[in-house]
Amino acid sequence: MKYSFRVLTIWGIPIELHITFILLMVFVLIFSYPDLYLFILTVFLFISVVAHEVSHSTITRHYGIRVRKIILYPIGGGISNRSDSRQS
Ligand SMILES: [Zn+2]
Repeated sequence: MKYSFRVLTIWGIPIELHITFILLMVFVLIFSYPDLYLFILTVFLFISVVAHEVSHSTITRHYGIRVRKIILYPIGGGISNRSDSRQS
């Protein structure tokens, strides 16, 4: 998807952050400074959403459906299983 950036790969599945998610993290960091509790809480939320989407991907792969990537948005995450050939 446009405007998303790969940050890590887990079990061969690329995990990307959408630009709106990155902007949310920047705003949380700016508005929570110097107390970073809200930012740390947001990071833990990010980790839990990644774990949630990786578990979705594991089940999806179990049923033989290819997972192309995981994208994280401010409202949650999503799995993309569309092939690259459909987009070109
Ligand atoms: Zn879910």
